[in-house]
Amino acid sequence: MDRGSRLKKKRRRRLFSNIVTVLLFILAFTLIKDKLFPFIKNAFSNDSSDYVLADSDMPGKNDEYNKGENNGSAEGNNSGHVNADGDNIKTGNEKDKELEKEMAEKKEMLKNTVYINDEGSKVVTNPNDILVLVNKERSLASDYKPDDLVIPNVKFSFEGEDQKKYLRKEVATALEVLFEEAEKEDVILYAVSGYRSYGRQQMLFNYRSERSGIEETNKLTAKPGQSEHQTGLAMDVSSKSVNLSLEEAFGETIEGIWLKNNAHRFGFIIRYLKEKTDITGYSYEPWHIRYVGKEVAKEIYENNITFEEYLGFEYDAE
Ligand SMILES: [Zn+2]
Repeated sequence: MDRGSRLKKKRRRRLFSNIVTVLLFILAFTLIKDKLFPFIKNAFSNDSSDYVLADSDMPGKNDEYNKGENNGSAEGNNSGHVNADGDNIKTGNEKDKELEKEMAEKKEMLKNTVYINDEGSKVVTNPNDILVLVNKERSLASDYKPDDLVIPNVKFSFEGEDQKKYLRKEVATALEVLFEEAEKEDVILYAVSGYRSYGRQQMLFNYRSERSGIEETNKLTAKPGQSEHQTGLAMDVSSKSVNLSLEEAFGETIEGIWLKNNAHRFGFIIRYLKEKTDITGYSYEPWHIRYVGKEVAKEIYENNITFEEYLGFEYDAE
């Protein structure tokens, strides 16, 4: 190889490596420009008016726009972002505070939703509220019946048509999801008893108190109008491991434990807890779930409190 051709080869190599360097530079620039220099991308865009209007509300002279860009596109962008974020944070806080305030007002309101009827009993004025509190001190009117009762598409412990199958629509949907999710974990639940009319409560109470006396009956069976089942928000649930019955042993079964740990995820609470009978006025009922919506259910579950405590009640059972 003579000197001339060696020189040519060298030049070619140098040219080639220069081209590669330039290409690499372009490639690297393309990759990082969007991340590091968003304004460059915008500067390359012909449609400047969009950008100006979107970010600064300035009607778009290119001069103004470029000036803004050069002097402080970072600043401009940043201030835009800061404002946006700042607003968001502020709005978030305000929303939280508003929600908190709303909830506090709601709780206060919920406590005061009773009137005294002719017989001297406290009757709730908000029977249709998802958060209605019904207990031994707060009855439902004898003629109250929810107007959106439906039969949830779940397994029942019995066959045939019965008012016990009904729940309010929102509750029925939530129960269907709960049962489905339980089944995915091989936990097979059965619905036993949902809606219970005033008339049926009367019948049940009379029947039971004739057998075991009013005092005993009152521990487990609500007086007419005092059953949550009349709200259409409650369902008694059981499993084959306790022969589909409603008994305390259900709380120790795989199904009962699953229900205790998961009901809140679907908006339900175990309404009558073992260690809270003095507050609820009822014996432990691991099978009785009450719908209150996911948010409230979560709070009640996590704090291990009763619905009465959640609402700020101090309830003394007699
Ligand atoms: Zn029940």
